[in-house]
Amino acid sequence: MTQHTSPLDTVLSALSPIFGDRLSTERAIRDQHTAVESWLTPAAPDAVVMARSTDEVAAVLKLCHAHGVPVVPFGAGSSMEGQVNAPHGGICLDLSPMDKVLSVNAEDMDCTVQCGVIRQRLNEDLRASGLFFPVDLGAHATLGGMAATRASGTTTVRYGSMRELVLGLTVVLPDGRIIKTGGRARKSSAGYDLTHLFVGAEGTLGVITELTLRLAGIPEASSTLMCSFDDIGAATAAVVTALQFGLCLNRIELADAVQMAAINAYGKSDLPEAPTLWIELAGSGATVAHDSEVLRDLIRDAGATGMEHASDPEAASALWRIRHSALYASRALRPGIKGLSTDVCVPVSALPACIEGIGKVVETTSLKAPLIGHVGDGNFHMVLLFDPENPEETAEGRRINTALIKLALSLGGTSTGEHGVGLGKKAYMEAEHGTALDLMRQLKRCIDPANIMNPGKIFDL
Ligand SMILES: Cc1cc2nc3c(=O)[nH]c(=O)nc-3n(C[C@H](O)[C@H](O)[C@H](O)COP(=O)(O)OP(=O)(O)OC[C@H]3O[C@@H](n4cnc5c(N)ncnc54)[C@H](O)[C@@H]3O)c2cc1C
Repeated sequence: MTQHTSPLDTVLSALSPIFGDRLSTERAIRDQHTAVESWLTPAAPDAVVMARSTDEVAAVLKLCHAHGVPVVPFGAGSSMEGQVNAPHGGICLDLSPMDKVLSVNAEDMDCTVQCGVIRQRLNEDLRASGLFFPVDLGAHATLGGMAATRASGTTTVRYGSMRELVLGLTVVLPDGRIIKTGGRARKSSAGYDLTHLFVGAEGTLGVITELTLRLAGIPEASSTLMCSFDDIGAATAAVVTALQFGLCLNRIELADAVQMAAINAYGKSDLPEAPTLWIELAGSGATVAHDSEVLRDLIRDAGATGMEHASDPEAASALWRIRHSALYASRALRPGIKGLSTDVCVPVSALPACIEGIGKVVETTSLKAPLIGHVGDGNFHMVLLFDPENPEETAEGRRINTALIKLALSLGGTSTGEHGVGLGKKAYMEAEHGTALDLMRQLKRCIDPANIMNPGKIFDL
């Protein structure tokens, strides 16, 4: 009787001599390589391969392409919409060993890194140069994963997101070919913008192995204002005015009253349980001093009921620590429940309508849904605290999420400002993109005809 060898076994037998103990099929290792930060059910790959170089990535993809075996790229696994789940099995390609900062060009304010570099690590390496990489998202994530999800953070209002800060890439295509896109030039009109085809593709078109990134100078001075308002409409109107004034704004974050109550319970504090803004200014000492005055007047005129100001770094850090505790404070409202973190983004002027509209929907449910947002970008999160084992609660959570996305789209926004689509937001892509989704499918079929790269994510073929 002839022994049948599966495509996966063929690929693993070929990879085993190259990767040795960097190839694993152990249950525990496979389980660690699932979407642990997501509200969705984990789905483990059949094997995990740890890659150290672009050539190793190319070797894996070439084999998987030839045998039709799925490949799920993996950075730090912090994505929230099931992006690193492997519902079709296959190989998880863990890129975390590719963690070298390859070059820093201080004069040109750029650097080139391998995809597995964690962004906090990059900033430690850059400190002596007086430069930093400004996408400061709230998790430990790799720069490859951040590019793949088009991530952003609290300073995006000033510096932009991964979309603005990636200058060029090295990418391994699904058939193993290695290409370079973009470069170090600050601008280029040479042909199609392939860099930005791969930024945000969530690993569905290839593996990013190296990135050239724009850097920024560390500002000389900064100052932080934390202020509360009677209602969220007044808080967001204040943000719109602050943006229009052209102040040296660095970060603008918003929490609603439910979130502030959660923060108080978590940190045993007695902050006003009212809509609260954190606003940071950064720049030269003189500019910050001038703009702080203007901002305080403006916030007072907008009806702020409480205001705390900090210009020395320690006091400012204390104010920002309160903001950074928000997710953990939300989760502490229902211990053991991760919650679904919504992620819509709308034009800033549409924020009050969006927040008010979804507030009315939340009131019709039994769920707690604290709100925190990068309000300077029109992007906010509600943590929907439902128990995925409870069907009624899950239905309520899904209903709020769907209503919120529909509302955001009707206001000219998007279903996801930064977390990406993965499996969790697939159902909304038709409504968001219409016929353009067909073009995305055509591009996917053209670049990855065997559909091996992170199959089933963003859309179905
Ligand atoms: C507490 C917490 C706070 C967060 N805060 C923010 C935030 O402020 N802003 C924000 O944008 N996100 C945030 N996130 C979400 C998450 O951190 C981001 O999506 C991040 O960009 C994922 O990076 P990662 O390295 O963990 O990628 P992974 O989760 O490992 O992968 C994400 C996706 O990218 C693909 N991928 C990974 N590496 C590559 C590569 N080299 N080439 C091609 N594809 C690749 C994967 O296949 C997957 O589809 C947060 C998450 C948590 C848990």
